Amino acid sequence: MKKVIEVEKLTKRYGNVTAVNGISFDVFHGEIFSLVGPNGAGKTTTVEILECLRKPTSGTAKVFGFDVVREERKIKRRIGVMPQEFNTFDRLTVRENVELVAKIYGVKAGLKQTLESLGLWGLRDKKYEALSGGMKRRVGIAMALVSKPELLFLDEPTTGLDPQARRELWETIKSLKKMGVTIFLTTHYMEEVEALSDRASIIVKGRLLSTGTVDELVSKYGGEMKIVVKGDKRAREILKKFTKNVSVDESGSFVGTFQSREVVARALLPLYRSSKKYKINVVEPSMEDVFLRVAGGKIDERGELIS
Ligand code: ATP
Repeated sequence: MKKVIEVEKLTKRYGNVTAVNGISFDVFHGEIFSLVGPNGAGKTTTVEILECLRKPTSGTAKVFGFDVVREERKIKRRIGVMPQEFNTFDRLTVRENVELVAKIYGVKAGLKQTLESLGLWGLRDKKYEALSGGMKRRVGIAMALVSKPELLFLDEPTTGLDPQARRELWETIKSLKKMGVTIFLTTHYMEEVEALSDRASIIVKGRLLSTGTVDELVSKYGGEMKIVVKGDKRAREILKKFTKNVSVDESGSFVGTFQSREVVARALLPLYRSSKKYKINVVEPSMEDVFLRVAGGKIDERGELIS
C-alpha cells in the first residue's frame, strides 16, 4: 500500500518539555488514521509538524515522500487543514468564508459541489455566527477542501459537539474518505476511533503506545468478553460451568468473564434455553478497554486522563 505519511523517531521539545518523544508510524493512501490520546499527549504538535507549521527537534517526517522541513511547499499545496477549535469570520456568510479561502489559494471555490457534499448548500447565505456547532465545523471542513487536498488533517473535529452532531459529522468524514481523501484525525473519543478509523495510534505523554486496526488493537489488548445475566442462582451455576470468573455487579447481575468467543457461545445456549427468560447481555471488549490496558487509565469527556 502507498504510504502518504512516514514518521520516524520524531521528537519535539519545547524547552525542557518533551511534547513528542521518538514516535514512528505510517499512514496509508485512502485510509482514516486516528491519533488518539488525552489532552497534552502531543497530538497537535504531531499534526502541526506534519502540516509543516512546526519544526521537529529530531527524527524525520515525510508527507507524500517529501520532507516536512526541506520540502514544505510541495506538501502544503496538497494538504487541507482544519485546526483544533476551528473558527472563522463570524459576520461573513458560509459562502463568503469559503470564497475567501479560495481567493487566498487562488483557486476556484467549487462552491456548490463542496457545500452540497457537506450538507451546507441550504445554509450558504447564513452568517457563520448563526450556525450550530456541528455546522460551524462543516464550514471548517469546506474551507479545508477548497484546495482539493489529497490529505486532510482534522485536529479534534468533534470536540465539544453534542452526541448527535458528533455522529452526523462522522458520516461526513466517512463520505470524504469515499471521495478518496486520506484523513488524519486526532481525537480523545474512543467511540470516534471505533466509528471511523481504519487504523489508530495511541499516544500518551508524547509516546506512541500502540498502532493497529481497531480490530487488531481490541483483540490484542481488549481483554476478555463478558456475559452479564440478570437472574437467579441457577443462572450463576450455568455461568460457573463455563468460567471460574463470575462476579456480581452493582445492579446485582452476574458477570461471567471469558477468554474465548467459543466458550461464550457454549455458555449462552443453556442460558437462553432456560425457561426463566434471563435478561442476558454479551459485552465485547472495546477501544475503551484497549486504552485502559495500554495507557493505564480512562479519558473523560473533556479529554483528561484519569488514572
Ligand atoms: P491538546 O488536545 O490539549 O492540544 P495535544 O495532545 O494536542 O493536547 P500538544 O498540544 O501537542 O498536545 O501538547 C503537548 C505538550 O507540549 C503539552 O505539555 C503542552 O503543554 C506542550 N506544548 C505545546 N505547545 C507548546 C509550546 N508552543 N510551547 C511550550 N510547550 C508547548
